Amino acid sequence: MITEHSDRHLTARPADDDYRLGSEAYTDEQRTAVLAKLERYLGGQRERLLGYQVNLSLDGHAALGRFLGYHINNIGDPFVDSNYSLHSRWLERAVLEHYARLWHAPLPADPASPGDTDGWGYVLSMGSTEGNLYAMWNARDYLDGNALVRDEVSGDASCRTTYLRAQHSDDNPNAYMPVAFFSQETHYSHIKAMRVLDIPTFYDLGGSLYPGECPIDVAGTGMQTYNGWPLGGVPTTGGDEGPGTVDVDALVALVDFFAAKGHPVLVNFNIGSVFKGAYDDVQGACERLRPVFARHGLVDRAVRFDPDDPTRVSIRNGYWIHVDGALGGAYAPYLEKARDSGLIETAPPAFDFRIPEVSSIVTSGHKYPGAPVPTGIYMSRAGSKLRPPSDPAVVSSPDSTFAGSRSGFASLAMWNHLAQFSEEQQVRQAAEVLRIAEYTAERLRRLSEQLRERGEPWAEDGIEVGHGDHALSVWFQQPRAEITQKYSLACVPLNRGGIRHDYSHVYVMPHVTRELIDELLEDLAQPGAFDRSADKDAQRPPLPHQR
Ligand SMILES: *Cc1c(COP(=O)(O)O)cnc(C)c1O
Repeated sequence: MITEHSDRHLTARPADDDYRLGSEAYTDEQRTAVLAKLERYLGGQRERLLGYQVNLSLDGHAALGRFLGYHINNIGDPFVDSNYSLHSRWLERAVLEHYARLWHAPLPADPASPGDTDGWGYVLSMGSTEGNLYAMWNARDYLDGNALVRDEVSGDASCRTTYLRAQHSDDNPNAYMPVAFFSQETHYSHIKAMRVLDIPTFYDLGGSLYPGECPIDVAGTGMQTYNGWPLGGVPTTGGDEGPGTVDVDALVALVDFFAAKGHPVLVNFNIGSVFKGAYDDVQGACERLRPVFARHGLVDRAVRFDPDDPTRVSIRNGYWIHVDGALGGAYAPYLEKARDSGLIETAPPAFDFRIPEVSSIVTSGHKYPGAPVPTGIYMSRAGSKLRPPSDPAVVSSPDSTFAGSRSGFASLAMWNHLAQFSEEQQVRQAAEVLRIAEYTAERLRRLSEQLRERGEPWAEDGIEVGHGDHALSVWFQQPRAEITQKYSLACVPLNRGGIRHDYSHVYVMPHVTRELIDELLEDLAQPGAFDRSADKDAQRPPLPHQR
């Protein structure tokens, strides 16, 4: 039956030769025909896509096609209109208001003069990768002593492209050298952002400056180390076999080590981590970090731009807490409401701006919510906003985002999505999606038991099903390629006791039904479903730890 399905779903697979562009134009009929081929292929794959965190319930967006006849561009700041008049800022601001409410960021009464803790943000043209990059850039400028939007920049204000940068005092050469902390479950976009922005990670700095002094013991976890420091991030509880949540004890010990050396601290937390869908305990961790920050002078520290002029000073914290909610930021608040109204028993821990230390949050619009193009939301506190490096007169709106041209269609799609649901519907949907994830974990565990009982070759020990609390991801031993292709399952090698084990995961998104899960389970129960001996990739060498 596997073969029968895969034949059907492979028939319409497009090929490069169908789409080559030459010096001749396609006729309208040719163009329509080859595009139809692409559409058939997409339609076939969409029906069974289970492995990636994207919501494919997009029917409500079909009517947006009529906006493709316009170039809608929100270039510049979402709150200041530019002279480019084909924009959708009204919708962008409504979307931002929605997330500000959901994440408990107070909105400014007057967007032109927000309070320091008021929310500010924008709709992303890329996904959370852009949001993470922008957050890390803002965090770096905040921590390494650059002037912020709110700081008075007297004298050299006309010098638009020059940063005003604080000088460290002689007693602490590390005062403006931020160090980044994030768990080993963290998405690769963070590693990329660290590289782009040249922010050292705790293991880079620890391994090179403090060999052998790592305050936590990672021996026996199977983690690779660099002079005793764990490569790839702060350990998660239970390591690769655990649920994927950051080990708060380890995080606090590592932060304490670098804060004691005078460094400012940049922490990333995950809400819905990339492979395991794990929720770091942001609230619990911040409560533990609070006294550490206070002890090392990282609360309301004075950043001095001019050692001889005590008035040229910026009071700000020496830490920045970022929440990567690429997946979970969009639905975890609804799970909390579902718990409060008795629909479900427990919810993931709080992560949002109710926690005073939280500085910025991102989420992706095309993951849980559902958008036909990559997009997302970035939100931070207005008083921490970085000073744009220049002020391009041609746009007539501040260059306060990452992109130049910004997708106005993305804001339109986010608005169109949100406008279709009442809060009650959102709460019910989140509870239902979680129930289907739990159903999936339960069915896979039962299958694992059956495979063990019948001594299925390649799965004699069962299929190592993993599922963390409230996670929408369920992972298990990687099946043969026909099945991973049929359901577009993501595949990742994990380290169990020093041995590489290949896993796949299912991500339960709003378009995933119990019927689709049942179909997957039926395929996985077939003899040979876990026999990968004929797969081309079965003998891949172990991969480095980051994913
Ligand atoms: C997907 C994801 C990202 C990157 O988001 P994009 O929308 O793909 O740019 C970042 N962090 C996590 C945890 C993710 O799951």
